[in-house]
Amino acid sequence: PLPPRLYFETVEQSPVAISVTDAKANILYANAAFEVLTGYDRHEVLGKNQSILSSNATPESIYQQLWRTIQRKRPWTGVLINRRKDGEDYLAELTISPVLDAAGRIRYFLGMHRDVTREH
Ligand code: FAD
Repeated sequence: PLPPRLYFETVEQSPVAISVTDAKANILYANAAFEVLTGYDRHEVLGKNQSILSSNATPESIYQQLWRTIQRKRPWTGVLINRRKDGEDYLAELTISPVLDAAGRIRYFLGMHRDVTREH
């Protein structure tokens, strides 16, 4: 098996903002790029819901589609309107990938997002 340190170092230094949440989207881990992109230090976001990044401008139907997909244990990719700690909005292209336990239940969600504001 690969050493845990390898996973940690590679994820930590990824240019993509990465977070790991519990099954209700409460943040358990966030990498350095997440801090840079969102403006939050990780100690501020640990235990909080990913909805802290919501600008309240993303249509409810998108969140419903997101949750319906990931509850079915399928990955979801889409674009959300997020808000940084400083109040500035950005377009986030987000992929959420469910992580299952040995019994096939949802254990974690892996969230990966980048700022695509300039591409739209
Ligand atoms: P919510 O109370 O979350 O409700 C919005 C809709 O989602 C409702 O229709 C509700 O029924 C449904 N819903 C919410 N929670 C559940 C659940 N546990 N099971 C089934 N349906 C549910 N949101 C962002 O805005 N920006 C992000 O960058 C972002 N990243 C995320 C990353 C991960 C890994 C995950 C799992 C979620 C992420 N979310 C993100 C979604 C976030 O958790 C919220 O659902 C969203 O921000 C809407 O929050 P809300 O409080 O406005 O509404």
